[in-house]
Amino acid sequence: MEYRGYLQKMAAQSGEKVHYYLNLGSELIFMNELIGREIALTFQHKITCFCGKELQKVFRQNYCYDCFMTKPEAGQPIFFPEKSQAHLGIEDRDLEFEKRYQLQPHVVYLANSGGLKVGVTRKNARFNRWIDQGAIAAVVLAETENRYQAGQLEVYLKEHLSDKTDWRNMLSQGDPEFDLIEEAKRVADLLSEEFKPFVVENFSPVEMTYPVEKYPEKVKSITFKKQDECKGVLQGIRGQYLLLEGGGVFNVRSHEGHHVTFAF
Ligand SMILES: [Zn+2]
Repeated sequence: MEYRGYLQKMAAQSGEKVHYYLNLGSELIFMNELIGREIALTFQHKITCFCGKELQKVFRQNYCYDCFMTKPEAGQPIFFPEKSQAHLGIEDRDLEFEKRYQLQPHVVYLANSGGLKVGVTRKNARFNRWIDQGAIAAVVLAETENRYQAGQLEVYLKEHLSDKTDWRNMLSQGDPEFDLIEEAKRVADLLSEEFKPFVVENFSPVEMTYPVEKYPEKVKSITFKKQDECKGVLQGIRGQYLLLEGGGVFNVRSHEGHHVTFAF
């Protein structure tokens, strides 16, 4: 079988095991059933920015220069929640967009993705967020009214916890064990008085299981910056990563907009 299209973030559905669908725009391909089979993604040297413009090269985060510099979807509050200002009525790039995005319940969470990390996300996007990061477990620590408050709380906790996922660790070293309820209690105690009212009453961790047959001992990143083909036997999927036999890993999300053929 061969499909053509441009890559978008894989769609994921939680369940006993996460189900993944490769999204090529017009086609959704169920990936779990391809585990154990050889797959090949071949770059067609064309990238479509989300504005629809076709590019040879992206500027940053798979955006063209104009989008990265002007669209609210690529504005500072997206990457740095603590810089959100819509609650003050201050515009970054598009106040209407920013109000819709920022002025809704957010959560600060702890997740185990090859290590313990803290993160911020919109409350109703949290499950997708955890799956996209490849977390095996996560717990909501605090809930806030808007993005700014959650960003401030996270900044405070960055003194004590990482806010990054170490993907090499996550995909090859196995996950350390944490009791997330105990961790949440410990972290809640670290908070200063101004943040304590946001802490949730009950900590209820959720777990995610990924379709991975075998983790590689050592991982090697495959990107279309360095090579045109990502080919091999698919051994598993976690987060937005395809894990291939031999240790090659391909981050689908970081290739959004890239035109490919997909064969299996
Ligand atoms: Zn663009």
